[in-house]
Amino acid sequence: MTSMTGKKIMLVAACALVDADGRVLLTQRPEGKKLAGLWEFPGGKVEQGETPEAALIRELMEEIGIVTKEACLAPLTFASYGYDDFHLLMPLFVCRRYEGVARGLEGQALKWVRPRDMRNYPMPPADEPLIPYLVDLL
Ligand code: C5P
Repeated sequence: MTSMTGKKIMLVAACALVDADGRVLLTQRPEGKKLAGLWEFPGGKVEQGETPEAALIRELMEEIGIVTKEACLAPLTFASYGYDDFHLLMPLFVCRRYEGVARGLEGQALKWVRPRDMRNYPMPPADEPLIPYLVDLL
């Protein structure tokens, strides 16, 4: 799919994984990747033929070893952001029920952060506008 500006639209599913204290997991983009060093909501690209929920369940398992299921993913809002080379469309799901202890299986650093403290963690420009929704929710 292409946007009105001629950019390819990329669909990425992201997750606000919430712990018992109302903190949300941020993962740091590793060196060598685009936007390296920035903190983001875990998730990833929705592949051809996948639903956003299925992509998120797959990515959470691959990236941080967390197991969850579709019934535990509640859509909260979405980001729509024009990067130079593509337009990102990114639904953000909230997940409070999951199994496992999050760990960076791809070498990424992890941090549990209160939404009101997220401003202290530099994020990709697509992720930043999502913070107020989490501040209101949690
Ligand atoms: O994670 P991945 O590199 O596959 O994501 C593709 C692109 O989507 C990234 O280069 C980044 O520009 C954007 N992205 C983002 N916020 C996220 C995840 C991805 O802006 N939480």
